[in-house]
Amino acid sequence: MIINYCLECSEPLRGRFDKKFCGDSCRNVYNNRVNGNVNNYVRNVNNVLRKNRRILDSLFKMGDKQIHKGILIEMDFNFQYFTHKKVNRESTTYCIYDYEYTTKDKSKFVMISPGHVDFETANRKPKGFRNTGHYNDL
Ligand SMILES: [Zn+2]
Repeated sequence: MIINYCLECSEPLRGRFDKKFCGDSCRNVYNNRVNGNVNNYVRNVNNVLRKNRRILDSLFKMGDKQIHKGILIEMDFNFQYFTHKKVNRESTTYCIYDYEYTTKDKSKFVMISPGHVDFETANRKPKGFRNTGHYNDL
């Protein structure tokens, strides 16, 4: 007979053969330790993104569509974090969830607008994608 031991406290396990932990508390302690760093990183990035979105939202709702970058910096806006971006010859548009701001080369101003997240397009397979049958509907 094979005896398994709790992955956290190493006590012998009773019950189902595929059991990994002796109880909820050992499972929680183990998972928090293993996933803690990743979860903290994701949480911190999400907090920055949410704060950026909140800043754009408040400025836009006050009627400010063209904003000096210095004001965003004063409000603790973090330009390094955005959810996606669109680039064309004249400008770059940075999206933060459903808001976006556009910057022109060397301009000290950005234009804020509510973006339209088109999930249908966002989830579309890239051009040239062919389903080889090796994977179930990537
Ligand atoms: Zn245990």
